Amino acid sequence: MINLMKSSPDHSPVITEDELSDEEVLTELKLLKEKLQHEVIILGHHYQQDDIISFADMTGDSLGLAQKVSQINKPYIVFCGVHFMAETADMLTSANQQVILPDLNAGCSMADMANRADIERCWHYLTEVTKQKIVPITYVNCAADLKAFVGKHGGSICTSSNAKKVITWGLSQGEKLLFFPDQHLGRNSCYELGISLDDMVVYDPKKLFGGLTPKEVEKAKVILWYGYCSVHKGFTKEQVDLVKKNNPETKVIVHPECTFEVVQASDFNGSTSYIINTIEKAPSGTSWAIGTEINLINRLAKAHPDKHIISLSPFQCLCTTMYRVRPRWLLHSMRCIENGKPINVIQVTDEIKKDALKAINTMLEISKE
Ligand code: SF4
Repeated sequence: MINLMKSSPDHSPVITEDELSDEEVLTELKLLKEKLQHEVIILGHHYQQDDIISFADMTGDSLGLAQKVSQINKPYIVFCGVHFMAETADMLTSANQQVILPDLNAGCSMADMANRADIERCWHYLTEVTKQKIVPITYVNCAADLKAFVGKHGGSICTSSNAKKVITWGLSQGEKLLFFPDQHLGRNSCYELGISLDDMVVYDPKKLFGGLTPKEVEKAKVILWYGYCSVHKGFTKEQVDLVKKNNPETKVIVHPECTFEVVQASDFNGSTSYIINTIEKAPSGTSWAIGTEINLINRLAKAHPDKHIISLSPFQCLCTTMYRVRPRWLLHSMRCIENGKPINVIQVTDEIKKDALKAINTMLEISKE
């Protein structure tokens, strides 16, 4: 190990990663990862940058990582992703394991668009104005207390990989769905299942009663929360049209967090895993414009030089919160583990965990079918 660690008066480590060059950070990370290999596993979400992914023992999207995490038996899980993912990992691991997020500021703008108080207020209103049974479904991109809300009210979590399955299940359990926080994933998935746009309404927490009259709630089959992903919302139908005009051979594939218009104009849409698999299976020489996070697109382009792969957008469609996890912070986390003083440990309270796990397990059960 390159020993640039100093000690403070109370003998806790004073981290001096700032004094290291980028190269020194990577060199020490390699050595430390090797040294801690029996204690630490590093997980990397697909939207992480290449330098982080190169240290990941496991990579995946939200569903993939959630399915893998419960099989890990090492005491420390360093999660290179965003806050809600680390919370989910904490709930799926045992009490003697610790989940660490290298940068606590790595959140998700979509997850921040729904909080428990607003959801409770919405639920109170909806259940007052209709006697029909409402099943709550939350996209995994939300805080643990919202997952707990869903578990408490007999609903399920979903990811972009299994949203349609979970929605189908939800509609077998009740007459209506409340889907949050991403209106686009909800709308796109429901539409593909044959639910008409007229049967969906949007609840906007900034408006009185969400902007919905009791009559509108009564008539709707699906109530979508007004939330969105700032990365995927940036893609436009004009971009799809331009790609098609310039090169009609190019196939457009997008994530279902994109708007309805973009998804409808595209050739394919699906989760991160679906996008990766589709590109992997595509014949050599084919052309693709992809509407998702830029780090993943760049990695796919590098991995498939025999295919022409571009971003659908000419602008940087970067998940700035994922971007916060840098090798320096990963090194910081690893050094603290090495010194027996792990930092940024994500812990969900037992009370929240109890209900949230119900919803997570419901999703994992539905995904198996
Ligand atoms: S890409 Fe969008 S939904 Fe995913 S973590 Fe970033 S802001 Fe959240």
